[in-house]
Amino acid sequence: DAAYDVIIIGGGPIGIACALNAQRAGLSYLVLEKGCLTNSLYNYPLYMTFFSTSERLEVGNIPFVCINPKPNRPEALEYYRRVTTSNHLNVRLFEEVKEIKSNGKEYTIHTQDGLYHARHVIIATGFYDIPNMLNIPGEQLPKVTHYYKDPHFYATRRVLVVGANNSAVDAALETYRRGADVTMVIREESIGKRVKYWVKPDIENRIKEGSIKAYFHSSLAEVREKEAVINTPEGLVTIPNDFVIAMTGYQPNFSFLEKTGIALSDDAKKYPAYNPITMETNMPRIYLAGVVCGGMDTHVWFIENSREHADKIIQHIKTRV
Ligand code: FAD
Repeated sequence: DAAYDVIIIGGGPIGIACALNAQRAGLSYLVLEKGCLTNSLYNYPLYMTFFSTSERLEVGNIPFVCINPKPNRPEALEYYRRVTTSNHLNVRLFEEVKEIKSNGKEYTIHTQDGLYHARHVIIATGFYDIPNMLNIPGEQLPKVTHYYKDPHFYATRRVLVVGANNSAVDAALETYRRGADVTMVIREESIGKRVKYWVKPDIENRIKEGSIKAYFHSSLAEVREKEAVINTPEGLVTIPNDFVIAMTGYQPNFSFLEKTGIALSDDAKKYPAYNPITMETNMPRIYLAGVVCGGMDTHVWFIENSREHADKIIQHIKTRV
């Protein structure tokens, strides 16, 4: 089969931005996405609202029209789908890339359905597939989740939320307001500084008045069928518990990057090696785009500041084909 100028791995907002740019530059390209279109956004909590305003979520300068300043999940799903379908972007869904191999001239991209050849590869695989595990006894129980979806599931149940950033705070407030008995376990001394500024007073006041219980400077030690054990400054505390929502963040697929030959920093951050001007990695003609670039620092890159990766990369590829 003829080689594509570029294959884009990941059909998230930034993979879509890369596809638009490649199409406009007249390059032959293909997007390979392992799940549905914008799979990460699809798997977000049902009722989440973006912290970004809609124009900052736009790709390819295509307007994201939205009545409220900040769009919600279904609005973003509509937007990225319409961008993809009305521009007839070349996307293959439910096709996971397993391996990228080089023959010196070209790359071969292996998926579960077959293989493709490309002169350039863009890895835009995000970070939402692999949760940061707590590594405690009981974490594998079905009552523990790292992906919070719908508060109604938790009505009248005793819910423990781990974490103190946006995802944890949204989960705690939503489940509390749908009738759950909510306890938060927070490693630090306070709610996270990056929590959406209009949400922060709400959670702080609910904790202050005791509607939501919170253990600060604490960590979850063990989960049992009907209890949870919390490591607090006063010692171990055991509380009755029905469900645990562990909002401890996510990480890029480091083993996929390493297998591809991309160097990672040897500190705990595991920053992947790339040239910030071209976004090319240490592997020639393999580029990184979007939130995958941050290593374990998953809050550094978001849509607004990483959509420009698409411009940098396609410009660089254009000078080479
Ligand atoms: P993703 O959207 O994660 O896309 C990566 C895609 O690659 C996924 O669809 C995945 O299925 C696919 N993929 C992974 N591995 C493979 C493989 N091997 N083969 C094929 N496909 C693969 N950012 C903002 O800018 N504003 C916000 O308000 C905001 N809110 C957020 C709220 C939540 C709850 C979370 C978790 C994140 C939020 N973010 C927000 C961060 C946001 O996820 C990213 O900014 C955005 O999704 C990044 O786009 P991306 O294309 O880089 O990665």
